[in-house]
Amino acid sequence: MGRGVGWGMNLLLYGAPGSGKGTQANMLRARFGIPHIATGDMLRAEIQAGTELGRKAQPILAAGQYVSDDIMIGIIRNRLRRPDCEPGFIIDGFPRTVPQANALDTLMVELRKRFDCVIYLKVEVDELLRRLSGRLVCPQCQRTFPPGTRACTADGSELAQREDDKPEAVRPRIEIYLEKTVPVLDHYRASGLVSEIDGRGTIEEISSQVLVAVNGRSSSSPRSGEVARSAGGTGTAGGAGKKTA
Ligand code: AMP
Repeated sequence: MGRGVGWGMNLLLYGAPGSGKGTQANMLRARFGIPHIATGDMLRAEIQAGTELGRKAQPILAAGQYVSDDIMIGIIRNRLRRPDCEPGFIIDGFPRTVPQANALDTLMVELRKRFDCVIYLKVEVDELLRRLSGRLVCPQCQRTFPPGTRACTADGSELAQREDDKPEAVRPRIEIYLEKTVPVLDHYRASGLVSEIDGRGTIEEISSQVLVAVNGRSSSSPRSGEVARSAGGTGTAGGAGKKTA
C-alpha cells in the first residue's frame, strides 16, 4: 500500500545534472504534498536576489564548479529545520560530496528522521551531455524543457538557457559530478536505501518507476516510535552497467 498526503516521507533524489531529478521531484511534490528542496534553485534565488551568498556563488555556478561544503551544509541545515519539512521532504542536488553526505547523516539523526528511499536516476554520460547542451529552463518555476520549446507549459513564461548549461560549463559539471558525487552513491548503497531507475524513456515511464520504488519502500519500511513518520527501509541497490552517471 502506498502513502498519500499526511504521511511522513523523506526522499533523496540522486543523479547527474540532466538526469531528470528536478522533473521527478516536481512530480513527487505534487503527489505527496511535501517540499522540493533543490539546492541549485536555492543558490539561483540568492543570485537573483543579489545577496552576499549569491554574489559569492554566481561565478562558481557559472563555471560549473561546486560551492563549498561548509556553505552548502549550512544551507541544508537551515532548510530542513523549517516547519514545512515536518511531514517530509524531497532533497534534490544535495549531498554532492562525501563530507556533505556525512553532515546530512548527522543532521538527520539530530532531527530524528530517516530517509525512506534514495532514488538514483541513472543516465549515461553521452546522453547527459546531449540533454544539457541546449536545454531551456523556466525562470519562474525552474522546469526544464528540450531545445525548441517556446514557453513554459506550466506558467507560460519565456524560457531561457541556464548560464551553466552553456557548452563551456557543461563538461566541467559532468567532470566534477564523476569525481566528487559518484562516491556519494556508495555511501547510500551501503545503507541499502538506493532504488536505481533507468533515466531513459519518457517522463511518464520514469515517474511510474519512481512511484513504484517509493511506494515499495514505504510499505516495506519498518516503523517504530521516534522515527515512525520517516522510517527507513531495507532493499537492494541496482547492479553495475555501462559507464553511467
Ligand atoms: P543544480 O541546479 O542542482 O544543477 O545546481 C546548480 C549548481 O549549484 C551546481 O553546478 C553547483 O555549482 C551548485 N550546487 C548546487 N548544489 C550544490 C551542492 N550540494 N554542493 C555544491 N554545489 C552545489
